[in-house]
Amino acid sequence: MNKEILKDINVLYVEDEEDVREFTSKTISTIVNSVITAKNGKEGLDKFLENRDINLILTDINMPKMGGLEMCAEIRKVDNEVPIVITSAHSDPDFLKKAIDVKVSAYAMKPIDLYHLLESMIKAVEPIFLRKKLEHINLTLENKVEEAIRQTKSILDAQDNMVILTDLENPIDANKKFFEFFQVDSLEAFLNKYSSIQEVFKKDNSLSNKKIFEETNNWITKLSQLNEIDRTVKIENKNGEDRIFTINIDDYEQKGEHYVLSFTDITELKEKSNLLEYQANHDQLTGLFNRQKFNEIFNKEIKRERRYENNLSLIIFDIDNFKNFNDDFGHNIGDEVLKVISKVVLNNIREHDTVARWGGEEFLVLLPQTDEIGAKNVAEKIRTAIEEYESEIIPRQITASFGVTRLKKDDDEISILRKADEALYKAKAEGKNRVIVN
Ligand code: GH3
Ligand code: MG
Ligand code: MG
Repeated sequence: MNKEILKDINVLYVEDEEDVREFTSKTISTIVNSVITAKNGKEGLDKFLENRDINLILTDINMPKMGGLEMCAEIRKVDNEVPIVITSAHSDPDFLKKAIDVKVSAYAMKPIDLYHLLESMIKAVEPIFLRKKLEHINLTLENKVEEAIRQTKSILDAQDNMVILTDLENPIDANKKFFEFFQVDSLEAFLNKYSSIQEVFKKDNSLSNKKIFEETNNWITKLSQLNEIDRTVKIENKNGEDRIFTINIDDYEQKGEHYVLSFTDITELKEKSNLLEYQANHDQLTGLFNRQKFNEIFNKEIKRERRYENNLSLIIFDIDNFKNFNDDFGHNIGDEVLKVISKVVLNNIREHDTVARWGGEEFLVLLPQTDEIGAKNVAEKIRTAIEEYESEIIPRQITASFGVTRLKKDDDEISILRKADEALYKAKAEGKNRVIVN
C-alpha cells in the first residue's frame, strides 16, 4: 500500500458520531498532512468552502442538518474534482444513483477498519496524484525540450554559415544567418516568399550539379551523395549579387529523416581558384590558351582522332619580321599587335577549334574534323585577315607565315608539330605572308 501519496493531502472528515470522528481523525492525521473535521453536512460544506486546499473528502452519509451525499452534491457545484470517500454503505435504493451523481471515488464500510479506509483513500487520491505527477513530468519535459531547442538555436545562430534543419526535403527551421540572408524574420515568412529551398538556387550552367535542382523527390539525399565540389549552389543575395555556397549535409541521427544543411560561402575562394586556374591555362598578354593548356587539348584531340578517324589538322603561324617591327615601333606597340592578332584568329575559327600562343610571336591552331584543304582555307582566311587588318594603333601592315599539316597514321604530337614547323619554315623561305601545307 502506497501511503506515501497521502502524506501531502488535506482531508475534510465529516462524521456526526463524536467518538468515531475523534478516533478516526486522530489516526489518519498521522498519515496525511492535515485533517479538518465537521459534525454534519452543513458544517462540512462550510468548512470546504472556507478551506479550498482540501484534497480529499471523507464523509458519513446519514447526518443531521445535511446528509453526506447532499453535502457532496453542493460541493460538486464548486469543485468537480476533489475525490470523495464514503464511510458507510447504505441501504437506501437511491443511494447508488446519488453516489454516482456526486462521483464518489471509493467506499469504506462501517465500522471503520483503518486498513480498508486508507486503501479507499489511496484509491480515491491516486488518479489525481498520478495525473498531477504526469503533468509535472510533461511540464519539466517540455521545459527541457524547449531549453534544448533554445540551446541548439543559440548554437545555430552563432554559426557563420547559413544553417537549415529539414525533414526529407522541407525546411523545419533555420538560423539567424539564414533569415538575414533572405531578409525574412521567420521560416514561415521565408516559405511565403519562396515555395521551397530549391527555389532560391539559381539555375547555372557553370555548376556541374544543375540536374540535382530539378529533382523534387529526395533532393537532399541525392545532393548528400555528391562530392563537395558538386554540392555547390548559387544564390542571389539581397544586393542582387550571386554568392556561391557549398552545402554540407549532416544526416541527423543517421536515419535519413532529418538533415542539417549548412551553407558555406565560397564565392571569394571560388573566384580566386577560378583566377588561379585561368592563370595556369592562359597567356597573360593575349588571353589565349598557353602552351601547357594547348598540349592538354592537343593530346585529347589526338586520342579522339585515333578513335573516330575524323581528321585533325594543325596550323602554326609566325609574324613576319616582327623583330623589325618591335625595333621600329617599340615593344608596347608590338604587344598590341599580338593582341590584335589573337582577336583576328578567334574571329576566323570555329567554336571547337583551339588557338594558343605557342611562343613569342608564334601561334597554333588545332582544327578537329578538318582535313588539309579545310585547314589551308582557314589559314588563308587568317592570313588575309591579318594582312588586311587596319587600325590606328598598328602603324604598319602586319603579315604572318603559315604552316599547315594533318595528323597522319604514324604521327604523334611531336611529329605533327615538326611537320607544321617545316611547312612554316618553307613559307618563310619562299617569301613569307603565305600558307604552305606539308
Ligand atoms: P621572321 O619573319 O623570320 O619570323 O622574322 P622575325 O623577326 O619575326 O623573327 P624572329 O624570331 O627573329 O623574332 C621574333 C621577335 O618577336 C623577337 C621579339 O622581339 C618579338 N617578340 C616575341 N615575343 C614578343 C612579345 O611578347 N611582345 C613583343 N612586342 N614582341 C615579341
Ligand atoms: Mg619567330
Ligand atoms: Mg617572326
